[in-house]
Amino acid sequence: MNNLPTLANIDVTVLKGVGSKLAQVLAKLDIHSVQDLLFHLPLRYLDRTRITAISQLRTNTSVVVQGAVLKTNIVFGKRRSLAVTIEDNSGTTCLRFYHFNASQKNSFEEGRQVRCYGDPRLGSSGLEFYHPEYEFVDSGKTELSEQALTPVYPLTDGLSQSRIRSLTEQAVNLLKDYSPSELLPAEVQQMFGMDTLASALAYLHFPPPEASVEQILAGQHPAQQRLAFEELLAHYLVRQQLREQFQQEHAALIKVHQDKKAALLSTLPFSLTGAQQRVCDEIQRDLSKGVPMLRMVQGDVGSGKTLVAAIAALNVAFSGYQVAIVAPTEILAEQHLNNFKQWLEPLGLRICWLVGKLTAAKRRDALKTIADGEAEIIVGTHALFQEDVDFAKLGLAIIDEQHRFGVDQRLSLRKKSRLGEVPHQLVMTATPIPRTLAMTAYSELDYSVIDELPPGRKPIQTALVSQSRRAHVIERIRVACEKGTQAYWVCPLVEDSETLSAANAEQTWEQLKVALSGFNIAMVHGRLKAAEKEMVMASFKKGESQLLVATTVIEVGVDVPNATLMIIENPERLGLAQLHQLRGRVGRGSEASHCVLLYGDKLSQHAKQRLQVLRESNDGFVIAEKDLEIRGPGELLGTRQTGDMQYRLADAQQHANLIPEVHRIGEHLCVDKELSDKLIQRWIGYNKNYAQV
Ligand code: ADP
Ligand code: MG
Repeated sequence: MNNLPTLANIDVTVLKGVGSKLAQVLAKLDIHSVQDLLFHLPLRYLDRTRITAISQLRTNTSVVVQGAVLKTNIVFGKRRSLAVTIEDNSGTTCLRFYHFNASQKNSFEEGRQVRCYGDPRLGSSGLEFYHPEYEFVDSGKTELSEQALTPVYPLTDGLSQSRIRSLTEQAVNLLKDYSPSELLPAEVQQMFGMDTLASALAYLHFPPPEASVEQILAGQHPAQQRLAFEELLAHYLVRQQLREQFQQEHAALIKVHQDKKAALLSTLPFSLTGAQQRVCDEIQRDLSKGVPMLRMVQGDVGSGKTLVAAIAALNVAFSGYQVAIVAPTEILAEQHLNNFKQWLEPLGLRICWLVGKLTAAKRRDALKTIADGEAEIIVGTHALFQEDVDFAKLGLAIIDEQHRFGVDQRLSLRKKSRLGEVPHQLVMTATPIPRTLAMTAYSELDYSVIDELPPGRKPIQTALVSQSRRAHVIERIRVACEKGTQAYWVCPLVEDSETLSAANAEQTWEQLKVALSGFNIAMVHGRLKAAEKEMVMASFKKGESQLLVATTVIEVGVDVPNATLMIIENPERLGLAQLHQLRGRVGRGSEASHCVLLYGDKLSQHAKQRLQVLRESNDGFVIAEKDLEIRGPGELLGTRQTGDMQYRLADAQQHANLIPEVHRIGEHLCVDKELSDKLIQRWIGYNKNYAQV
């Protein structure tokens, strides 16, 4: 059997049209064999078989809509655009063009039927189509020419959709004579009712005209489920291998230092919540095993993760090891520094600080302190990941807001120990991640949740207010500041550009200085130097300014308990989880707090409904679930930036129901190293970053 050619060892160059040049292009996509090509699955499908009602639009779903032109506007904003509103009998949407000419504008005559192809995105009027492909059609004409879904493949330079489609067609033909090896146990194959792996692959490359479009677009066809299962399993297995590799290493044996913990708690004006206590115990259990801990702690904003981290740090430090605390920004690192100083210095622990902005001399001192073991607790930013940071005896690495770091960055700290002992790892996240998603995205980690807020927190009252009442909102700020409390004004993101957003924040700042003369109004945005940002934040924290105008740079972790009012402008441009994070900057003191979502005049009903979720809930997990539904996991986890967790066809949300079974089967399969490796190679290849760390 092994002597027969298999799809895995038939080179792509046997396909018609694949010479050495195209082979090189395909190699960039990790496609070498016909099997690789078959497993290079469509990223998504275009549904050009039917017209979708405008009221049913969703972000990132490619559709055809058709409607009559209601009006055209030239909008003079930061960037001039042409906005064409079209209407069908369910609602209206906007086609937006940044490049256009007069004749194009004139072609959109009122009442003319337009058919538009594209994926709507959130824009200033709700869901909008940016530079869509479109055509004019006779009214009444609703039939479409495509009979089947059109697959869209991931591409690279030098490869077009039509080229790769013609290659997959040949590859699918080869499936008649050769089949890829079935790697799933028979039990799993039967779960999905597809006869063979080959038929599932053929179906997904060329969905037949009678295929159910809804089912396929929702990722629910048995062929998709079967392959998604296999892919999720491969990811689970690679992460399990990583975990096992980890568990074969030694780690510091940490004892509980009950007296020290009690001493710390006795200085606090509150006691631990039940959830904090439980998570502390879970961490301590891991730390006492002698193998490296890999644990994620989740908790909503304000649930008190920092204190849990400090207690873990204290036990590690008093067991004779160092602790590194890594935060994604200097503002946040400084806040941790202050907390840890306040909590741990009285116990006799020494704390050192390392961030990018230190002068050369200070940096040298810090490096020496760290290397000589003269500080037990080291707080910092990415700067701690650098090569020349050498710890005397690192026992625990705590990574705050871990979604800002890639897996590889996180794991680089494990190389930083001199003792032949791998440091324990505790990662904390403030964006609550629904459990099934956490199980996929971070299956190598154990998981703890602080599912309780400290008592006495007053829920933040959230209101949706239209821009037309801006003056009234500004008045509210005056009232709040006159009472001695502070406020934030968060300016919107402008077209994903930090420069435009910063310019916009500056304008707003100028306006508010005039409208609220007599108060100190500060401003912070991403274009300021780190030192400037820090100064502004520090002075706001001290109460020297009453209002802070900011871009979303303040999203993460800043703690100013005296701030009780937050205005968020154009909230429709942000994800719900992010809005919840932002809003979590208020409601940290004993005063009741308010958040005003100041939305644009043209906000659609749909977008307004989305924002209502924030009015109705203060629960980060509920909000995260909603956000996941609307925006998908890449946005929620921030992995679009770090590149972690990119699947070929599995979708952490659409296939969430498969996860428990993937884990169950995976636990059995992982002992079969050969089979695991085959699955991993098929789906992930050998060059996935975390597979080799
Ligand atoms: P997050 O989980 O968002 O990182 P923090 O650790 O910043 O939250 O804690 C938020 C605030 O709650 C801090 O001011 C902290 O001192 C306080 N806090 C932490 N634990 C408790 C508790 N058990 N009871 C009351 N307040 C607490
Ligand atoms: Mg925090």
